[in-house]
Amino acid sequence: METSVPSQTDGQVADVSLRLAPAAERQYRSASAVNIQKQIRALFRVRPAARARASSWDRMADVLDWQAFGFPGVFSTTLFLSIQGHRRWLEQGTLPFPNECCRCGRPAAALLDFRPFLEVPLVRFQSRRVHLRGIPHCLEHSGSQPLAFASVTEQPGRYAYAQVVAMHRPFLEQCLIQNRRDGDPPAPWVAFPRSLPFGGFNQGTNEYWMGHSWLPFWSNLSPEARQRYLVANRAPAEWRQWDEVITKQRGHEIG
Ligand SMILES: [Zn+2]
Repeated sequence: METSVPSQTDGQVADVSLRLAPAAERQYRSASAVNIQKQIRALFRVRPAARARASSWDRMADVLDWQAFGFPGVFSTTLFLSIQGHRRWLEQGTLPFPNECCRCGRPAAALLDFRPFLEVPLVRFQSRRVHLRGIPHCLEHSGSQPLAFASVTEQPGRYAYAQVVAMHRPFLEQCLIQNRRDGDPPAPWVAFPRSLPFGGFNQGTNEYWMGHSWLPFWSNLSPEARQRYLVANRAPAEWRQWDEVITKQRGHEIG
């Protein structure tokens, strides 16, 4: 039995850059949602070893190590897309990548597109549809086979995140840095409208988002920049009060 992937439970998997026939789309969605592990096997040609320590899976880590699921040398990270990153995904089908090879970190010489590998009962085939454009590769690794792929999950009008899977941990760390430089994230009252500043952030996607996207962004803003963000994004009263409480606490700690 396949082990499901953490942080894939909230929201539907949607490949919004494609317009597939309904039947093909259903196939694609199930392949995408269930089968990151199958994509790893097909694309990276890694055979899963005995599943040693799935219990050691730290789902809050910046970079996840798939050794816990029997795939040594395979890593993934989750990029919560900024507002402009989400737009870029919708329009161009690509993500904020560093200019370095996804397999070894050398300067990128080619940009390859990922074509998802589909598996239906008794039939395996590689879809001609492009799911992710422009994955950087160096000269040595610029054969036709991309060495990284992504599964994008979207809540329309709220947020989108990409789980990027690759075989070079520093590449994923650079992806995270690029993503954090990629502009403002959606506001929490937009991304998770049912959550309040001091509650409703459960141990699912929204807690992960809070720790990995929102708080790193917010804690780096000056008080003036926070005010601008709150106004520009029409913060509800409870979120404005939340910021005042946080700011006062900080002032108290410093004073
Ligand atoms: Zn390379």
